[in-house]
Amino acid sequence: MQLPVADGRTVWRYSRRLLADYRAGLVGVVLIQAAAAVAALAVPWLFGGLVDDLRAGATLDLVNRVGVLLLIAVVIQTVFSAVGQRQAMVLGEQIFARLREEFISTVTHLPLSTVERAGTGDLLGRTTNDVDRVQWTVRFGVPRILVTSVTILLTLAAAFTASPATSLGMLVGLPFLILAGRWYLKRATPAYLASSEAWAKLNGSVSETVEQASAVDALGLGPRRRRAMRDAMKGAWHWERHTLFLRAVLFIGMTIGYVLPTAAIIVWGAWLVTNGAATVGAVTTVALYSIQWRGSIGELMFWIDEVQVATASLSRILGVNLVQPDRYASGEEPADSHIEAREVRYAYREGHDVLHGIDLDLRDGERLAIVGPSGAGKSTFGRMLAGIHPPGGGSVTVGGVKLVDLTEEELRRQVVLVTQEHHVFIGTLADNLRLARPGATEVEMRHALSVVGATWAEAFDDGLETEVGSGAVTLTPAQAQQLALARIVLLDPHTLVLDEATSLLDPRAARSLEGSLAQVLKDRTVVAIAHRLHTAHDADRVAVIEDGLIAELGPHEELVAVGGQYAALWESWRQE
Ligand code: ADP
Repeated sequence: MQLPVADGRTVWRYSRRLLADYRAGLVGVVLIQAAAAVAALAVPWLFGGLVDDLRAGATLDLVNRVGVLLLIAVVIQTVFSAVGQRQAMVLGEQIFARLREEFISTVTHLPLSTVERAGTGDLLGRTTNDVDRVQWTVRFGVPRILVTSVTILLTLAAAFTASPATSLGMLVGLPFLILAGRWYLKRATPAYLASSEAWAKLNGSVSETVEQASAVDALGLGPRRRRAMRDAMKGAWHWERHTLFLRAVLFIGMTIGYVLPTAAIIVWGAWLVTNGAATVGAVTTVALYSIQWRGSIGELMFWIDEVQVATASLSRILGVNLVQPDRYASGEEPADSHIEAREVRYAYREGHDVLHGIDLDLRDGERLAIVGPSGAGKSTFGRMLAGIHPPGGGSVTVGGVKLVDLTEEELRRQVVLVTQEHHVFIGTLADNLRLARPGATEVEMRHALSVVGATWAEAFDDGLETEVGSGAVTLTPAQAQQLALARIVLLDPHTLVLDEATSLLDPRAARSLEGSLAQVLKDRTVVAIAHRLHTAHDADRVAVIEDGLIAELGPHEELVAVGGQYAALWESWRQE
């Protein structure tokens, strides 16, 4: 499943709103650039005048005066261009920063199930390639489009002022430009969209293969992965070629469109001069304008092309906004901390339920172990209990309120899924801890660290302000896991769901961490998805999940005495 893509109208509306918010800045840039453009236009004007003056027998003195004026015009143009360019860049940065912040905030609030279903390639593609493309166009394109549009119009106006008759020659290229432009624009957006998609597929294919290299190796999937990558590469190659073809046609049309006017002005101008309808100077001025014009038109066309690419990318970026949230907070408050699952169903693919209506009452403060064969639905049920995914049917409630009716913040105060993926975020130790509770005081953070036995933190010179993560102090895996556990202490939920399958406990670190973990589990209700039966043995109750249903439930001794599934599992495990 792909993440959604916004349609053209949405992109247009968004861009307009975004640019409108920066209207003052944009107008400022246009005015400064217009001043620079006017100064640049003075140069052909002065040259044309000089030609006529020379024909009329000008003095050296006059030539010198024109020379000084030319110099002044060039200086003015340079200064205004420099200032305008700088303003434009600053503005581009501001607009892009806003876009990026909005995007990051959307991405971090995406429902987890959507992210998982869409695969990493799609989201990764949008956050890297697509953002890069939009960035380039916003930073350089938006300012340059403004500048070149202003320049083109002013040049045309100046040419018509110099000699209306001769200036008609400037227009002969327009049909070519318009035809090529229209032909191109109609085809470009869908092609670039397909190209982005093809690249995302390739990225996804490569990153999946690299991330899961050991699985690929172990299962002998090499040839199949290579084939998949080759196919993805073919797709990307096809679309790159296709968009290149579109650009080639556009550029042919453009070249004709802007070489033709100069030629026409010279031929047509010569005829006008012979018939006394224009002066040689005026024709010179207009011919020079037509040459100056080319640069601006060429640049504008180039940016129109880039805007197509950026529009395609922007529709993918804005598409992320269209993902529906998988829950809405109802504002209800849980009456107590009692968690209850009723008739819980779930399907990863429609029509294929992996949970078939599970009922479970958690008792406050108990240790419940969930066991069962691999693929029975233990982890899936664990995620329902922790409110990660809304169940497909039935409900999981805490104190009478559905978990998915709570705000994310409130939910995490009730129940947390512990996977112990030990990621250290770049920033200070305090930043890493405050992810769990933004308002945590220094005392609270130190307390959390000491609960999990992270005494090493005391040894840092800068204390909680020590920079950690790549490029700074590197924490050992065990320290990183303790940091993650300290975050749970700060969250202080009354219930924890512990998935052993995903708790990447480093075996070497396991011993010291077991103590830390025990401290975190103390005085909380714990659901342990057990893959080692000794966990089950130590639990207050054991739930055996089979085929998406609870087959047996009760204390270890009872289940062993009954002599059912669990007893058999236990027996075979003991004999090992
Ligand atoms: P257990 O934890 O008991 O091993 P799981 O809850 O992981 O079982 O899986 C239950 C079923 O759901 C299995 O058939 C598994 O293949 C399937 N499943 C698990 N995760 C996904 C997923 N992300 N997408 C599709 N199917 C999944």
